[in-house]
Amino acid sequence: MNANKTMEPSASLDFLGDLRRTHTCGQLRAAEAGSRALLMGWVHRRRDLGGVIFIHLRDRDGVTQVVFHADVDQGVHSKAEQVRPEYVIAVEGRVEQRSPETVNTNIETGEVEVVAEKIWILNDSRTPPFPMEETVDVSEDVRLKYRYVDLRRPHMQRNIMLRSRVSFAVREFLYSQGFLEIETPFMTRSTPEGARDYLVPSRVQPGSFYALPQSPQLFKQLLMISGFEKYFQIVRCFRDEDLRADRQPEFTQIDLEMSFPQQERIFEVIEPLVQKVCAVAGFEVPVPFPRLTYAEAMRSYGIDKPDRRIPPMHPVEDLIPELGTARLPLIAIHIPGTGALSRKERDELKQYGTERGLRVFDDARRLERDFPDAMAKVRARTGAREDDLLILAAWAGEPKGHRPEETVLQACGQLRLYAAQKYNDRHRLLDPKNFQFLWVVDFPMFEWDEEENRWSAAHHPFTSVHDDDLEKLTADPARCRAKSYDLVLNGVELGSGSIRIHRRDIQAKVFGALGFSDEEARRRFGFLLDALEYGAPPHGGIALGLDRLVMILAGENSIRDVIPFPKTARGTDLMCDAPAPVPDRQLRELGISFRKG
Ligand code: ASP
Repeated sequence: MNANKTMEPSASLDFLGDLRRTHTCGQLRAAEAGSRALLMGWVHRRRDLGGVIFIHLRDRDGVTQVVFHADVDQGVHSKAEQVRPEYVIAVEGRVEQRSPETVNTNIETGEVEVVAEKIWILNDSRTPPFPMEETVDVSEDVRLKYRYVDLRRPHMQRNIMLRSRVSFAVREFLYSQGFLEIETPFMTRSTPEGARDYLVPSRVQPGSFYALPQSPQLFKQLLMISGFEKYFQIVRCFRDEDLRADRQPEFTQIDLEMSFPQQERIFEVIEPLVQKVCAVAGFEVPVPFPRLTYAEAMRSYGIDKPDRRIPPMHPVEDLIPELGTARLPLIAIHIPGTGALSRKERDELKQYGTERGLRVFDDARRLERDFPDAMAKVRARTGAREDDLLILAAWAGEPKGHRPEETVLQACGQLRLYAAQKYNDRHRLLDPKNFQFLWVVDFPMFEWDEEENRWSAAHHPFTSVHDDDLEKLTADPARCRAKSYDLVLNGVELGSGSIRIHRRDIQAKVFGALGFSDEEARRRFGFLLDALEYGAPPHGGIALGLDRLVMILAGENSIRDVIPFPKTARGTDLMCDAPAPVPDRQLRELGISFRKG
């Protein structure tokens, strides 16, 4: 402990007593001039001009200027001299209209000020680790360590309040549609969403563990089997993944499930829900959202979460067979408004493509010289104009994978995004306020897992196979389509869901196709298989990522800026220093000991 830091407050402090606010710090307007006000809040800024002290008093609603005149009340004025930034005070006085030249248009209460007649100092504050202005750049580690102070900054207040309004709008809408909010357990068994589980050891059953849910998937299905028909929850999910830049070990989903739905019924709920939530943030979005099959998304964008602010790619192998790519697609990538690229920039693009296995034809002029007619048709197909970026790309070597065409399209899709992001300052296509939602549907049922050398569920193992593809389950898994769908916004997957398997025989077949033995399926999901035997209705649902949604609506680049107490990219809570070792006694009680090394 710092020896100089005494626990004594640096000013004489007052009690709250029965003081009561008359207004918030964001409320007063010219119409209130002449009336009395009692405000409480934090000292945002203080200017001492000798005989007059100005304080900007802040609460979550805004800022009001308070003035202390030495010649009005010497005692009150000298008390105001003691306060410092972030002290918590109450002031009472008369609301006065400011003269036109002193009106402050930067704050909503700027037409008035409160002339203080009384002041109470409710608490003092150490000098905050950083100023409360949002324009001040502070390292994220410091912000996270002093999160309670960081959260006071106006943009963080705005973000967290927006999050609350979004949650409220979600509840209000879903309740109005007959959904029930039902809680599901946090201490449960492993649920397969493809990540590792966070485990909680059981003290009373040493050697046994609960898993924190990766999602409420199985419980929400069981709630449908129990007859609740429409469930939702704004729920925390836990996934122990290798943390990439913007992942959190715990995150929040808007999770819902319905009985008897087709995919379109789910969309009919989500579209107006999303529309309403966007309206809360001041954005108007048209519905319905376009629907694109997975195959179309791959063909046109080379990715299953297309960013439709950038024009699609076009296959053009039929137009220039001379480039010798007939067996696999030759893709035209077109980014409008980029202007001519320098030699160096073209080399960079080429290198990026080459590293991903592509042969990149970066010089459209040269292609135009060599294949004038064909290139005129390429321009007509893509709509590319003279000063747009136009490149062609094809696979450089032998096709790979179970869906080779997809491998090529994916690499081209990456090149397209790379080029669009790299030159965004020229074309400004990637406007964060241009919301381009879409549904991607008909995902493949299975993905090839290189490590495990077997098929795995592309969504999760409870997803229904397309009615027409049931026969292909074992015969041709690569071509099996699932009844699953993603909601995508500007290249970000906002949510995914599916129509579930509600028949035990089909669920068993899918487990089989995924390589689970009967025993393993029973051991892990016996309770689900049993439940499917007791009148399970057709059902389906979706989960939307609340953190990402609010992040985009708030115009932020990181979900950490819309989560009150997030962890760092390494999964650490810098404020309360978690995770942390625990005393040996606690480990002994749990029957846990650690092997060294
Ligand atoms: N449980 C799924 C997920 O977390 C969502 C769903 O299928 O409803 O992605």
